[in-house]
Amino acid sequence: KKQQLRGIVGLKPVTKDGKELELSANISSLKELEVALASGTSGVGLFRTEFLYMDRSRLPREDEQYEVYRGAAEKLDNKPLIIRTLDIGGDKQLDYFELPEEENPFLGYRAIRICLDKTSLFKTQLRAILRASYYGNVKIMYPLISSVEEVRTANNLLEQCKQELREEGIGFSEKIEVGIMIELPAAVVIADMLADEVDFFSIGTNDLIQFTLAVDRMNEQISYMYEPFHPAVLRMLKLTIEAAKRAGIHIGVCGEMAGDLKALPIWLALDVDELSMSAQAILPVKEKLLTLTQKASLDLFEQIMACRTSKQVHEILSPMAVRIE
Ligand code: PEP
Ligand code: MG
Repeated sequence: KKQQLRGIVGLKPVTKDGKELELSANISSLKELEVALASGTSGVGLFRTEFLYMDRSRLPREDEQYEVYRGAAEKLDNKPLIIRTLDIGGDKQLDYFELPEEENPFLGYRAIRICLDKTSLFKTQLRAILRASYYGNVKIMYPLISSVEEVRTANNLLEQCKQELREEGIGFSEKIEVGIMIELPAAVVIADMLADEVDFFSIGTNDLIQFTLAVDRMNEQISYMYEPFHPAVLRMLKLTIEAAKRAGIHIGVCGEMAGDLKALPIWLALDVDELSMSAQAILPVKEKLLTLTQKASLDLFEQIMACRTSKQVHEILSPMAVRIE
């Protein structure tokens, strides 16, 4: 079986009727990048940068971050590298960085909210990313965006960093793309407005499911309620992808659902550009993709959007989960 998957590493990720998808990797270290490259990844759709902050006893300096980002950019050899800015808080804590005790950490002081408050910490990371952009196809992505103001504030800080680098004579890509994660219901509802501010969206289904259904993604007692195929979630996905399409911006998916074989007809029907998943999922997803058509996916999608229960959706999509022998 492994051997068979190895055989498709070099094949284009494309359906039988010609719809091509970027299948990229979620990574949180340079080691994971090696595994992704060995699986023939289209690029990196989500570089989780938290490890740089968590694996030490102080904040990482600009140079330390720059080395890592540049290393990844060069290894990818012009394939896209989407670097997500710091996403701590919630379940992820830093020992050396005093975060307040909170009643609801997932709804609290975290991610872009910290970055827009501690602007020097944020600018250090932005400068490191900008400098690395000189060496590859680097893009910036902000997590947990809930409003147009947050995007504009973050972009103003990015602009300041660019200006500083220009004055210092340090190289970076002037046309670096900026995108946001769509992972809050608020962002879905104003996706058309957000699309005017950025170059791309990537849907973070892990948080989007959690917040849409009000189900803590870490709480085992209610894990049965954490349901990717809930009709409300499906409508959220549809709204987001259609808004991106209308605005003509790149649309990716980077939560766990991107690597779920059962969800493939949804992405094909809605015509997403990119699925980003753990490196181990790339080849199984590609193997399945090669057997599907976008046309049949559209029919399936129409059926599942008419379902009123997730159970029915699962019944329709369950043949997708069967691996080809
Ligand atoms: C997500 O929320 O779907 C996501 C990809 O980000 P993380 O799992 O790091 O929150
Ligand atoms: Mg998230």
